[in-house]
Amino acid sequence: MAEAPGGLEVVRRFVNTRNVENGTDDLADVDGLTAFCREHGLAQDGEMAEMAEMDRDRAVRLREALRGVLVIHDGGPPDPEAVADLNRLAVDAPLVTRLDDDAAVTLVPAAGGGGAVLARLLALVHGAEVDGTFARLKVCPADDCLWAFYDQSRNRSRTWCSMEVCGNRAKVRAYRGRSREARA
Ligand SMILES: [Zn+2]
Repeated sequence: MAEAPGGLEVVRRFVNTRNVENGTDDLADVDGLTAFCREHGLAQDGEMAEMAEMDRDRAVRLREALRGVLVIHDGGPPDPEAVADLNRLAVDAPLVTRLDDDAAVTLVPAAGGGGAVLARLLALVHGAEVDGTFARLKVCPADDCLWAFYDQSRNRSRTWCSMEVCGNRAKVRAYRGRSREARA
């Protein structure tokens, strides 16, 4: 499967820490969250040592709110609840601009703790919005899939994570639906 460019790939992997098809969740406990943060540079050592259930709760809420937003990218219906929850979480994950010695500007968390992890993820989302790639991060609309994928198609027209799997299943369902109508 195609990786998203730059930091957006971290966001894609974050959303996919829950595998709907297999029923697994890499963020099922605090250790899982810590491991994900370590692997993807989302937290400093001190922050990881202090991570608690509350931080895991917030991370999971952010993940599912992001999933709701990425469904919208795939042409799904508006999801005001997901958007509102994401905005609520962002209030406790403030970012500030920081310049380094070369005068390069980055967004960094304004505070430490669990909020810093959310802030770093939101900074990656913001960066992707600015470079025009965020809208290409989508969630497969199949109820039993909901996998985040990066749409590399020229006209941003891809719907399914995989045409071979979810696309074909949807075609089969639509076909069965039509043939039922024909018999009725
Ligand atoms: Zn799918």
